[in-house]
Amino acid sequence: MPAPDEPVVVIGAGPAGLACGERLLAAGVPCLLLEARDRVGGRTLTDYSLAPGFPVELGAQMIHGRHVVTHRWAAALGLSTTPWPILQRSRMVVEGRAAAFPWFAFPLYPRFGTRAFLRGVRTIPRELMAHRPPDESLASFLARRPPPEGARRIVEILHAHAYAADADQIGVDGPAEEARAASERFGYRNFRLEGGYSELFRRRADPWKDRIRLGTRATRIRVANDHLRVETESGPDASPATWAASRVVVTVPLGVLQHRAIEFDPPLPASKQRAIDRLAFGTGYALQLRLAGGNLRERLGNFSVVWGGGASSFHRPALGRPGLPEILTSFTVGREAGRRSLMSEAERLEATLAELRSILPSGADPGRVGAASVHLWPLDPYSRGAYSFLPVGVGLDARRELAAPVDGRLFFAGEATHTAGESTTVHGAIETGYRAADEVLRSLRTGPAVAGESAGRTAGPSVPRFHPALPSE
Ligand SMILES: Cc1cc2nc3c(=O)[nH]c(=O)nc-3n(C[C@H](O)[C@H](O)[C@H](O)COP(=O)(O)OP(=O)(O)OC[C@H]3O[C@@H](n4cnc5c(N)ncnc54)[C@H](O)[C@@H]3O)c2cc1C
Repeated sequence: MPAPDEPVVVIGAGPAGLACGERLLAAGVPCLLLEARDRVGGRTLTDYSLAPGFPVELGAQMIHGRHVVTHRWAAALGLSTTPWPILQRSRMVVEGRAAAFPWFAFPLYPRFGTRAFLRGVRTIPRELMAHRPPDESLASFLARRPPPEGARRIVEILHAHAYAADADQIGVDGPAEEARAASERFGYRNFRLEGGYSELFRRRADPWKDRIRLGTRATRIRVANDHLRVETESGPDASPATWAASRVVVTVPLGVLQHRAIEFDPPLPASKQRAIDRLAFGTGYALQLRLAGGNLRERLGNFSVVWGGGASSFHRPALGRPGLPEILTSFTVGREAGRRSLMSEAERLEATLAELRSILPSGADPGRVGAASVHLWPLDPYSRGAYSFLPVGVGLDARRELAAPVDGRLFFAGEATHTAGESTTVHGAIETGYRAADEVLRSLRTGPAVAGESAGRTAGPSVPRFHPALPSE
């Protein structure tokens, strides 16, 4: 049995890493988080300056679900969440005509209309769930569906945004398996976190921030007989350090693992490496625009989002806040998001506005862009994309394989490891952090004996026992 004060090292201080660290510390198990960025929160990032007094999100946009753990994290800190009626206030624009949800404004219109809507939200999703192997891409499945075209477009748009990928990249059987595994307990509804995700995670981590080493990038994990060693680089001169631990939890994004940014010695088991390579990591970003002088509100009403069928949907986070400047979020996904990530800022803005203008009804004018803000997740070395999805031929078994501990001492968490249908989300990531912490705690009680070297950073002070005052869930 390892000594009880031997530390666990958690790599990554995003939602999964923070959840894991909190649970370990609450159980009295010392742990240390190593985080490559100079902040916590991972793929959540809030901009507080684009519209003073109104935080906008550059990563995770909203809380998906009424009963998910994120609400409890927010409530424990006195942070409020407000419903964000995305679909209910959406506008679908087809060939210059805008319809309010449920998009019935195109009666008898061959591409859209009641029949397309019902097929798109009811019939085709049922057919997707009933699909039997061999797997195929969503695009090829949809190509065989009968008209109306609008039904196919609805399915395609909703899937593309859910997976940050194009329809020819997304499988049918894997996402259907994932949807079957998803729990109804959360209640489908979206919420805005009023203070922003950055505030949530910063304040959540605050009571135990001395357990988090920011700016510390894990480069190698060495599994020896009696301990694990995590090699890191930090600071502008990439100063190396080595941390010894009896257990290590890896919570870095799938994109980082696929990029082989952390070397495992010995290499990960072939089955786990295969899971990493088979799972897919989607591409997307949220470009926040502060607009002036336009008339979208007058022309489209009090809308939440405009869907046009291209690579972007255009959201309005300040819905219901008349006093604020007009903020529009271009949520761009798939290959086009990858292409635009490589553009100059001016080109990206131009491409975004061109797409918006091409779908708006005639007379609707977004006005001019006063300011813009974006974080390009596809280019970020600590994310390498947006979130994971199941491509053609890959099922939930790949997520299970990614989540499985190695040797009872090396554990994996993060949204891509969620095996019950809540991958791609903040609350799903938090749940995986809790799951990994429970696995660590079990292994410390029953697992392989890890004797030998004293814990902590080699050639440095050992890690003290630590019992912080943690916010309750
Ligand atoms: C544009 C966008 C929109 C999204 N919208 C939503 C939404 O509306 N709602 C929702 O619920 N979710 C949304 N998500 C998904 C959500 O942000 C993620 O599911 C969640 O952040 C995953 O948490 P995680 O802890 O698994 O990974 P991360 O948040 O990525 O955290 C992993 C951490 O590991 C660190 N790291 C990476 N490499 C190393 C290394 N070598 N050494 C040390 N540390 C390292 C990273 O810096 C990061 O802090 C969105 C994501 C994006 C990109």
